[in-house]
Order: sequence, then C-alpha cells, then structure tokens
Amino acid sequence: MRTSTSVVLVGGIMGCAVMVSACGQVAAPGAREAAIVAHVKALASDEMEGRLPGTPGEERTVRYLEAQCKRIGLVPGTHGGTYVQQVPLIGFIGAPKAFFTAGGQRIDLSYPDDYIAVSRRGQDHVAVTDSDMVFVGYGVVAPEFSWDDYKGVDLAGKTLVMLVGDPPVPDPKSPSALDVATFKGPAMTYYGRWPYKFEIGNVQRAAAVIIVHETGPAGYGYDVVRNMGRENFNVESADLDRRHAAIDAWITLDRAKQLFARGGLDFDALKAQAATRAFRPVPLKATFTASVRNTIRRVRTQNVIGRLEGRDPALRAEHVMYSAHWDHFGRDLSLTGDQIFNGALDNASGMAEMLAIAERLVAMSPRPKRSFLFLSPTTEESAMLGAKYYAQHPLWPLETTLADINMDIMNFWGRTRAIVSVGHGMTTLDEILAAEAAHQGRVVLPDPEPEKGYFYRSDHFELAKLGVPALHFLHPGAEYRDRPADYGQRMRDRYTTNDYHKVTDEVKTDWDLSGAVEDVDLLTAVGAAVANGASYPAWKPGTEFKAIRERGRDK
Ligand SMILES: [Zn+2]
Repeated sequence: MRTSTSVVLVGGIMGCAVMVSACGQVAAPGAREAAIVAHVKALASDEMEGRLPGTPGEERTVRYLEAQCKRIGLVPGTHGGTYVQQVPLIGFIGAPKAFFTAGGQRIDLSYPDDYIAVSRRGQDHVAVTDSDMVFVGYGVVAPEFSWDDYKGVDLAGKTLVMLVGDPPVPDPKSPSALDVATFKGPAMTYYGRWPYKFEIGNVQRAAAVIIVHETGPAGYGYDVVRNMGRENFNVESADLDRRHAAIDAWITLDRAKQLFARGGLDFDALKAQAATRAFRPVPLKATFTASVRNTIRRVRTQNVIGRLEGRDPALRAEHVMYSAHWDHFGRDLSLTGDQIFNGALDNASGMAEMLAIAERLVAMSPRPKRSFLFLSPTTEESAMLGAKYYAQHPLWPLETTLADINMDIMNFWGRTRAIVSVGHGMTTLDEILAAEAAHQGRVVLPDPEPEKGYFYRSDHFELAKLGVPALHFLHPGAEYRDRPADYGQRMRDRYTTNDYHKVTDEVKTDWDLSGAVEDVDLLTAVGAAVANGASYPAWKPGTEFKAIRERGRDK
C-alpha cells in the first residue's frame, strides 16, 4: 500500500505544475521540463518494478497512466468507460525435434546449435511429417517492385526454405552497388525481416517455414536467433492455426548447404538465381519431419488508451493517434545489487512526452477538428503484441485513423537543430513534419542506420502493416546546439553501451530537457496539422503499405 500511495502523490504534485501551462498562463522557467521529468521519475521508479507485463508493476503503471489521463482531461479511449483494453496473451516454451531426409539419408539436427523451431499455434503438440521441401528464394511477393518468388506454384503442405534479408538486386548502371529502386538498395524493407517471411509462408499455406540464417543480411548473429527459442508470446485467438504455419524455424548456413548438396543442388548458385525476378520455386528433393511440445501459460495484460474529442461534429469520429509503449523488462533476481530495469529512456521518456503532448492539445484553442487517441501499448519488448492486439481489435476504425506518431527513447540531452524521423521518405507526413520543424528553425533527417530496419521494430509498425501512415521517433536528437559535432552520436553510443536494456537505464542528473520540450511542441503541431488537414496523409509510391491503405479506404 505504501508504494502505491507514493505513486499517487507524485501524480498529484505533477498536476499542480502542469495546470499552470494548461491554463495558458506563463509557465515558470523550466516548469515544462520539470513536468516531463516528474512523469519519468514516477514511471521509472523502483515502485514500478521495471513495468513487466502481468506483475504488480503493470498494475501500478496502468493506474498512473489512467490517473494522468483523467487529470489532463482525456476521456476513456475504449467504448466501455475505461482507459484499459484487456490484452489476452499466451506464453509458450517449445521443446522441438527435427530432421531432414535427403538423398535417401537422414540428416539429424541438433537443437539449438543447428536450428531453432517454434510453433505459434498455442497447441501442446504440433508435428510435421515427411513434408516435401521447396526452396523459394527470398520468399517475397512485392507488387510495387514487380517481384513474386512463388509464380503461382501451389505450395500447400510443403516446407518452404527461404533466405533472410531483401533480394539483393544490383544497380543496372553500377553492378557493384544495390539498386535503390528495388527494395531500397542497402536499406532494409519489411520483406527482409523474419516476421514477414513466416507470414508470407503461412499465406502460401505451407506446413513449415525455414529461414536460412546468415548474419550479414539478417543484421544480427545466430545468438539472436538462439534467443528466439526461449519463452515466446502470442496474442490469444481462436484462429491461431490459420494465422501461423505449424512450425516456424531457422537453420544455420552450414546445415542449409549440406541439405542442398545431398539433393544434388548448389546452394550458392540457387542463392544467386534468387536475386532475379525470373526465379521460380525449386524442389529440394528432401523432406522435413519435426515436432514441437509446448509448455503454455496464459497472461492477462493491458493497453492504456485516452481520447480527446475533436471540435468538428462531422470529423470527430476520425482520429490521429500518438503511441508510446509502457512495458519494460521487470527485474532480474539473479543480479546482486540493483535488480530493477527502470526503463527511464526506454520508454518512460516516450510516455512522458506523450502526456505532455496531450496536455498541449487539451489546452489548444480552437480545439483541432478531428479527435486524438493516446495509446500506451503493453508488451512492445516482446514482439509488439499490445500494438498487434490493438491493430487486430481496433477501438476506432483503422481506415479513419489518419496517422500514428510513435515515441520510443526520446532526446533528453539538449536542444537540437534537427530531428531524426526513422521512416523518413515513406509517407506524406514527412512534408507536415518538415514544415512544422521549419517553424522552429529545425530540419528533419532520415534514420542514419536504415539497414537495421528500425521502422519495422516498434509499435507503430503493427498499424502501418494494416495501412495506417506512421511517424516513428527513436533517438530523435541530432545536430545539438552549442555542442561538438559528434555530441549526439557520443551520447547515443554511451546510452546503447551502458544503459540500453540494462538496470542502469535510470533518471540521470545530467539530463537536459530543453530539446524534449521542443520535440513536444513539434509533435503537438504535427498532430494538430493532421487533425485539421483537408486530406488524409498517404504512403508514398514504392512503399510496402500503400496498396493496403488504398484497398482499406475503398471498402
Ligand atoms: Zn522501447
């Protein structure tokens, strides 16, 4: 009881500080910065126990966010008078067994050194027996690049073997470089990421999907794949066997080469063919047999959602969304000393800025025409499942959700001349962001590391996949004012090395919130401009999600 009392107290103190600016009076110097830091102190406090879904830390976090929504003047974003959307999850740990048969011989596979296999169907036992194996190249269907690796071949019940990454298509003018007009050259697209590979394999009605792991194109080593074999989570649903192939797996490059060779095929030659539009599926003259026994548990967790109604009765059923995940990693009882993953930058900073944005929009006069949603999804740190659940069970139609503005690890290191937008170049939201940034004398920069595919690795992406245009801010600070040129990169590297996903991601004494306040103003202005806009933001030609949005809007 004592801990929850102190949490409420922090919220109460906060209320006074922020009411000043919300009433339109002149805020005391630093009051806005102090308000953001106070949210972070509350959300990243030890009482929140690292904000792990399904723990008392979740309850305290959710109660804090609800209390703040009420204080700010947001109404519940659900239709049942509550700020909470229940998210039912299943957790599962699999014990797999698997082997190939090729050239009349059995190739035994050792788990987890040769392969990882999971079944996402939520069943105690899943098996695939003597399934014919087919190599499908990169496994991609991308109409905007005139690319289809399947060529209409019926692959129902087969085991599909795929390469990781985007098809590496050479630039016709300069063959040593990648063609930026096809799969964006060296930048990662969604087609290159493993979740896409398993999804498209299921669309092909495959029995199993096996990704050949290669560290270069994946962007991470086999140790990351190995971690995929620990406890996994999925959104509970009655149709999981329609949503997932029976088995999703990865194998090492060595095992893949052995498999191809036993069937008399050359892995490297077929891999080269797979980088061309003429590629067709190639039977591997091999079969796959595998089973997975799952230990399953059910977990109840919650998304938090507040709503601010727009002033135009004809448009207020349409929404602009902001999102910032609330969850983090809880505590690690094996550590001596500090055991709590406070997650101050990841992502108390995003929630704090979202609350500050909500306050500014509530105080804005006149109120923007369309309405706003402020979503704090659960379980971002485990495959973005809270956002995925919202996307599967939207409380307001996705077709009339104009945009999602997502925040995850914000800039607490000072004022900047630039803001980094991770999906820069993908939607017409870019122009709105650039215009509003120019009003602050700032510019917008693209993600400095597009090959890592960050746009596909946070909550907004679950909405983008269903067509909602999105902006994503992750380490948005760049070109710091009155600092050395390498200051931003140094601060980011220091955070990544010392604090990212560690118990030391805590409130720091050297934070400078002057840039955070500017970002709050900027993202408030962007949301208001979209909410007042004459037209909907759109995906730009050549993006993966343009056709999805256009289909949805034609409905
Ligand atoms: Zn995060």
